[in-house]
This record gives sequence, C-alpha cells and structure tokens, in this order.
Amino acid sequence: MLPPIRLVSEAADLAARRHNGMARKGRGNEPYINHLAEVANILAAVTDGADAELVAAGWLHDTVEDTDTTREELAQKFSERVAALVVEVTDDMSLPKPQRQQKQIEDAPHKSPGAKLIKIADKISNIRARIVPDPSGDERNDLAAYTIWAEKVVAGCRGVNAKLDAEFDEAVRRAKSAF
Ligand code: ZN
Repeated sequence: MLPPIRLVSEAADLAARRHNGMARKGRGNEPYINHLAEVANILAAVTDGADAELVAAGWLHDTVEDTDTTREELAQKFSERVAALVVEVTDDMSLPKPQRQQKQIEDAPHKSPGAKLIKIADKISNIRARIVPDPSGDERNDLAAYTIWAEKVVAGCRGVNAKLDAEFDEAVRRAKSAF
C-alpha cells in the first residue's frame, strides 16, 4: 500500500479530477471538491489522523456514485479497504430518491465502523452547506427535510466516535435554530 500521506494525496487528486466542473447543492453552489475536502478533513480531525485509508475514502466517497470511477479501480489504486468503504457509502442510483433515502436509514446500522463515520461526516457537511444567510422558504424547507432525514440515518451510525457524534449534534442544533 502507498505510504499514508501519498494515499491521502492521491485520493484528493483523483477526487478533484473526477468531480471537476461539478457544483454542490446549497451555500453559493461551491465546487463539489469543497464538500469532499470537508468530509475528509472532519474524518482526519475526529480520528486525529490515525486512519489514512478512512481519510482517503472520505475524499473518494462520492466517486463511484457520481462519476465513472469503479470499485476495481479504487482497489487497485488505493486498497481493498478504501474501495470497500466507498462502495458501502454508495447509493444505488437506479432506485428513486424516496427508496434510496429509506434504504439509507435501514442499512445504516449494518455498515462497518468506518462507513458509519463517513456517513456521519457526509451528513454534517451537507447540513452545514444548507444553513445559509437569509434563507428562502424553499431553502428552509430543504434544510428541515434534510436534517430530519439525516438524524434518522445517523441514529444507526452512532457510537463509533464520540467527537464525531458531538459534531453532528452541533450541526443539527444549528440547523434547527435556522428553520
Ligand atoms: Zn458526499
């Protein structure tokens, strides 16, 4: 396997290339890479840099879902565990959105500890992005709906990392004071 700093650096580089030109939902339509950097950085911070594969998977967590990246490619370039973590947090995009959302709630408790951490970090980042100054009615409704759903998914992911659980609770507290 690559040395830890190379593993994370290669993951960031591949993620930047694969998501090039994509924008994220919420706060000023930031480049998608901002979301990936935030998720990877949350994971690095709450684990105090102890798990390079987890941070690499944070950078890559949306590549299989949203780009033409495959599990095999990730396994070959990074590691079997990085590939497995990304696949664990990949939604089946052939399902309609309500089914995908329900499936996330049902599947969450059965995920590996690392996948649970990525799920929570992803939800923290997505909630934060939806907290905007002077929200419109639609933005408020979207924040409320997203936060309520995220709480149900995260209920099945808690208990792996206390710092991450606390960060999620803080994001929810801020969201609820904004809707
Ligand atoms: Zn994501």
